[in-house]
Amino acid sequence: MIQKSTAFFKNLPPKQCSKCGEVIHEKHEFYANLCNECMQRQTITKFCRN
Ligand SMILES: [Zn+2]
Repeated sequence: MIQKSTAFFKNLPPKQCSKCGEVIHEKHEFYANLCNECMQRQTITKFCRN
């Protein structure tokens, strides 16, 4: 069962940024499907709105 699920994850297509379509290389989990660039822009926008 464990080996099967590992193979399943390896066959998944790479994650893509939902904003610009950039392939996300990060291995850790993302709370949003955004690349680093779009993530930073979003953070900056949030700060500006404060
Ligand atoms: Zn992006």
